[in-house]
Amino acid sequence: MRNEMPQLPYPNNGLEPVISAETIDFHYGKHLQTYVTNLANLTKGTEYEQKDIEDIVATAPAGGIFNNAGQVLNHTLYFLQFAAPEQSKAPEGKLAELIVRDFGSLDELKKQMEEAAISLFGSGWAWLSLDKNGKLQITKESNAGNPLRQSDKPLLCIDVWEHAYYIDYRNRRADHVKKLWDIIDWQAVSNRL
Ligand code: MN
Repeated sequence: MRNEMPQLPYPNNGLEPVISAETIDFHYGKHLQTYVTNLANLTKGTEYEQKDIEDIVATAPAGGIFNNAGQVLNHTLYFLQFAAPEQSKAPEGKLAELIVRDFGSLDELKKQMEEAAISLFGSGWAWLSLDKNGKLQITKESNAGNPLRQSDKPLLCIDVWEHAYYIDYRNRRADHVKKLWDIIDWQAVSNRL
């Protein structure tokens, strides 16, 4: 992945009522754009300028380049994992099999991911990823953290920085997190396996 703004597969109001057009305008249009711009400025003339975002996230030392690359990657995965509520379908195929094998049911996966997102202290992300042994796992990452840092494959994420939900849900992080299931595009998640 290069350092650029992803094209959204839905209009800015396409995720309503779960995520408002105003939140997309700010979260995608302002926050993500700022991370893309910052990363371009920070990497200009450095060894990182020509590297893929995944490479930077996996290898850059803690600091500004890692933080901005992490946020570009995390938000790209985040915004491309959604679909309009009426288009969101249940997991199928290999992904559905792995969910039953490793969590017992989709409901149990959702419960554990909600707990991770709600209990994360401060800003960060809850992740569903595939670990090095091919097992699904749920983890919490502070700030710009991403499972790639531990050589695990990121599949699905919940952004719990306040900017992700404060316009629509104010301080009610749990309400926001529980509503997100209505707009998960499991086909997009499945394609990341
Ligand atoms: Mn965010």
